[in-house]
Amino acid sequence: MKQPIQLTDAYVLCQDCGHAEPYSDAKHLGRESCPKCSGDFCGCNACSGIARLSVQFQAQAEAENREGEA
Ligand SMILES: [Zn+2]
Ligand SMILES: [Zn+2]
Repeated sequence: MKQPIQLTDAYVLCQDCGHAEPYSDAKHLGRESCPKCSGDFCGCNACSGIARLSVQFQAQAEAENREGEA
């Protein structure tokens, strides 16, 4: 299986809009805010788990879209 989006073990989740991004210290420590709503990211275990599901779902949807176009 190809994985067009790189999946990592840790993610941060925007507390305001639910946008998920790969974990970074800057985001976890609040030095970098959500590009969509300027909200704060959280990188705790619970949020990381939710964010990972969200990213995997997006990756799957994108892969399916690509196959549909080809
Ligand atoms: Zn946000
Ligand atoms: Zn959290």
